[in-house]
Amino acid sequence: MELNILTLCYIIGSVTFILGLKMLSHPLRARNGNLVAAAGMTIAIFGTIFLYKDDAGNKLHNYGWIFGGIAIGGIIGTLAAKKVKMTAMPEMVSMFNGMGGACAALISLIEFGHIPDISTAPTGMLIIIFAGLVIGSVSFAGSMIAWGKLNGSIKDFAFKGQHLLNILLLLVIVGLSVYLTGWRPETAKVLVFGILGLSLLYGVFFVFPIGGADMPVVISLLNSFTGVAAACGGFLYDNKVMLTGGILVGAAGTLLTILMCKAMNRSLTNVLIGSFGGSSNGAGAKKQQGSYKEITLSDAAVVMAYANKVMIVPGYGLAVAQAQHACHELEKILAEKGVEVKYAIHPVAGRMPGHMNVLLAEADVSYEKLLEMEHANEEFPSTDVVLVLGANDVVNPAAKTDPASPIYGMPILDVELAKLVIINKRSMKPGYAGIDNELFFKPKTSMLFGDAKKVLQDLIGEIKNL
Ligand code: NDP
Repeated sequence: MELNILTLCYIIGSVTFILGLKMLSHPLRARNGNLVAAAGMTIAIFGTIFLYKDDAGNKLHNYGWIFGGIAIGGIIGTLAAKKVKMTAMPEMVSMFNGMGGACAALISLIEFGHIPDISTAPTGMLIIIFAGLVIGSVSFAGSMIAWGKLNGSIKDFAFKGQHLLNILLLLVIVGLSVYLTGWRPETAKVLVFGILGLSLLYGVFFVFPIGGADMPVVISLLNSFTGVAAACGGFLYDNKVMLTGGILVGAAGTLLTILMCKAMNRSLTNVLIGSFGGSSNGAGAKKQQGSYKEITLSDAAVVMAYANKVMIVPGYGLAVAQAQHACHELEKILAEKGVEVKYAIHPVAGRMPGHMNVLLAEADVSYEKLLEMEHANEEFPSTDVVLVLGANDVVNPAAKTDPASPIYGMPILDVELAKLVIINKRSMKPGYAGIDNELFFKPKTSMLFGDAKKVLQDLIGEIKNL
């Protein structure tokens, strides 16, 4: 009977994961989707703690350790999530993903230690143990490097022949795993630590040379690795909910990786060995020369207030300035004056997938007003004023015109098709890809320098006085 209730807990867990994931696909339902999946996970965890019995009928007993771990992890996780700034979100995702990978690797290591006699251990079990160990360790080490790169404490590092060394490392790891599974040597209990060490090293070398701007893609890929490693744990314990959760994470991470690569018009291989967004960025790109013109706040207020249609292009700088509320305020004031205001959202604007959508949703901007890139590009020709707020790379025409540019081939927002472009940023410094932007020097473009929040507040004041 108890086993049936536990099975029911697992079914509820699995169903809520799928429902939650489905709900995440719409901003209005995303928050609830998270809660639904978390509730299912809670049911599955407590079901396991109180109802699980092993083959000999023994229940779990080390409650002190279990609840101690839950309390410490829960407190750290809650505080970290509450404190994290929106701009540091990718770092946190990377750190938490690394912890998932480490868990999967530890499960494999511990279960390997529990094998009484390796010569009689089932082959399938050994394969799953080694797969979980290798994938989990790579995900852990890689995620830690990605975390360090995103917070600036680790710089890109590559040396000649690194990719070759990586392939060699991988071959040794696979070779060792095959040797332990096929030949079952007595030294297995020591050699398994060799697999662990080499996998950690591979994870570090795998992420080290990849450029900083590509970290979110790498994190998404490592996320799918963690999912697969967790699914290995599900196989090992014959635990259906762990298996479902792992497979869902693995599949979602893979799909997200593919979508992000598509949005940047780059192959995954190019992301992994292309070193985009690193310090050497822009080395081959054209240097911009010429003059740019500035627009005053009052002129900007006039052209926007008397326009028929204004398109706002939010970028990473909007997130830095935390200007989303001021942005919504501007939208409302313009709408009161009869101006049609919409937002053009580039899929990789900001520093993580959906960054701008989340930011604007936080300020209660109606989801209907957010246009995806293709749709926005169709509307620019009928737009009077484009206001670019802290965006740079996603409106850089070099992506279309300069084959030497590191962002060449990335689809961009064609803001130049509008009648007038106003760019708000603090200086002429480049964006994340580290390259100049010829858009700033075009006759249609005017620069409106300053912190996005301050500029928006001043603009609102000017428009109110018109
Ligand atoms: P960028 O990083 O290209 O540019 C942001 C601009 O904002 C900077 O040029 C900066 O200029 C300006 N800025 C910074 N702070 C402020 C502020 N307080 N007020 C006003 N402006 C400010 O951002 P984009 O959004 O255009 O492009 C995103 C980049 O990140 C792309 O290269 C993309 O490929 C990359 N990326 C994004 C991922 C995602 O998932 N979203 C994933 C991987 C990479 P200044 O210093 O002069 O103010």
